[in-house]
Amino acid sequence: MQQIPLIKNVREMNQYFPITNMLIETEIDEFHQLIIHIAEHPNFDLQLISENKNKLTEIPNTIRYLVAGHLAEVFFYRQNILEKFLSQPRHFQIYTTPEAFHQDGGVAGGCYNPSRECIQLVISRLFEGFNATPGVCPFLHELGHMLDFFDAGTGSMKRSEGLYPGLNPKDGDLYNPLARDLFIKGKRLELDRYLALGRGDLTQPLPIGHPYVFQNDGEFVAGYLEMFFRNPNYFAQQNIDLFNAYVELFGYDTRQAWKEDFPHYVNANKSFYLSGQTPSKTKLTIPEL
Ligand SMILES: [Zn+2]
Repeated sequence: MQQIPLIKNVREMNQYFPITNMLIETEIDEFHQLIIHIAEHPNFDLQLISENKNKLTEIPNTIRYLVAGHLAEVFFYRQNILEKFLSQPRHFQIYTTPEAFHQDGGVAGGCYNPSRECIQLVISRLFEGFNATPGVCPFLHELGHMLDFFDAGTGSMKRSEGLYPGLNPKDGDLYNPLARDLFIKGKRLELDRYLALGRGDLTQPLPIGHPYVFQNDGEFVAGYLEMFFRNPNYFAQQNIDLFNAYVELFGYDTRQAWKEDFPHYVNANKSFYLSGQTPSKTKLTIPEL
């Protein structure tokens, strides 16, 4: 396992959470208090697993902080959704090495495992994002999958419908019809642009996400969640309706946290579409209005 530095002062963790750029001092304190609240919550089930499926009893506080912190960043302005999300046990299985991950059934570079209702991820990937190891943000991606399976109406994990909590009319108090309308409109625009490229029509703006996230509705919600929190300026510029769906859902405009986007996704996605390769088939569907 890589050496995990322990946290001495929680503020040193701000570098992992862009939201702290837009908060005033007292709000930054509230943000860290929320992280600690999540990290100590009885339904926050974080497991650290080494090779041969060995569950470790000691979990470095940095790991606990990073996982809880991502939840805090997503739900800082929507703590009612967070409360519902934590109303039942939520499982996060973090692995010390890629071997440990594969031995315990982990697939690809990280996954949400619906039968165990848990996110599975190698520890080193928690540090990826825009800091020391620039890249995608695998935890946010898998959280997107987890939120898709989460049924905000009952608080249980159900099945993937390609929707975040708040987008489904069955979500009870948490249902946000405006966000749903914007999401449908914005998703349809992304799909139209993607299909236009497939026909060789280059006259329309590019879809924001990579073909990977156009495979199906589940990848779409996982990938676009990441991008809302990492390249909001490009996101909003390309598709303001879809962007505003996320602002409605999560209660804040992530452009305030990013003067300039983290360019990784923007560049990787654009370069695919501009390369002339034919985008692969899509199974994306549009929910009915
Ligand atoms: Zn995925």
